[in-house]
Amino acid sequence: MTIQWFPGHMAKARREVTEKLKLIDVVIELVDARLPMSSRNPMVEQITAGKPRLIVLNKSDMADARLTEKWMHALRKDGVDVIAVDAKHSKGLGQIHEGALRLMKDKHDRMRDKGRNPSAIRALIIGIPNVGKSTLINRLAGRNIAITGDRPGVTKRQQWIKMKTGEMELLDTPGILWPKFDDQLVGYRLAATGAIKDDILNIDDIALFAIRELKSRYPEQLKARYRLQDVSGEAVEVLEAIGKNRGFVTGGYVDFERTSEMLLHELRTEKIGRVTLETVEEWATVTE
Ligand code: GDP
Repeated sequence: MTIQWFPGHMAKARREVTEKLKLIDVVIELVDARLPMSSRNPMVEQITAGKPRLIVLNKSDMADARLTEKWMHALRKDGVDVIAVDAKHSKGLGQIHEGALRLMKDKHDRMRDKGRNPSAIRALIIGIPNVGKSTLINRLAGRNIAITGDRPGVTKRQQWIKMKTGEMELLDTPGILWPKFDDQLVGYRLAATGAIKDDILNIDDIALFAIRELKSRYPEQLKARYRLQDVSGEAVEVLEAIGKNRGFVTGGYVDFERTSEMLLHELRTEKIGRVTLETVEEWATVTE
């Protein structure tokens, strides 16, 4: 489901997250490992200020493992507590409790010094739509929980869910925040990976963007998947060659829409291999 993020919705989402923050000890910020910066909310630091935060690079099974390592290294150097998981296949989830304990260590030590036993850590999962919040809550709970639709402002009674592993409780309603979609590059990156729906941007444009990205970042994977000798031409020529190879031709012309849909589907389902569409170095130059 696509959320149309109007200013009123953003204000409401922000208010809802701020309310939930009062109830919890630790924020678990879910990010897409394929887009560690573009899949973050532009105001997340400000919104969650004052709460210990664990950044979780999710969908790491679909991301470039080498680049995930580099991202974690760079973020840790900046003092950010970050881990990588694959919520869908329950990989690495033990690190979440460990991370939360790390973040709470000083507070817990102080409590123990006073002879008090720390209670279970309470956590809130936040992130932009489609980043895997519901999947993660279900995996951590060890059962399927009806999670409020992908819509800010849909209210239901909040409940605490005990985690399968570790003394920790989660709010069953994640905090949904908006992406940085006013930046065109960010919008295309989110669209290419399927984080935002196709109807927001033109499908051919998303596919051409994806080809340009793959041509420069993962040319060998692109060549191998579509049996292409050379991908150095214009993106539109590469897309045409892909359409021809797949036999998406009618009346002598390549059906670009069908080819674009197929390419994006394959990119989003890892048929073209694992990809990460932004690097630490690129972000360093943007934020300087
Ligand atoms: P939410 O909108 O943040 O609650 O996102 P969902 O939990 O609904 O997940 C969005 C899509 O991403 C679903 O199709 C999930 O199966 C998929 N997904 C979530 N986590 C992972 C992951 O770690 N790996 C992969 N491959 N897919 C995931």
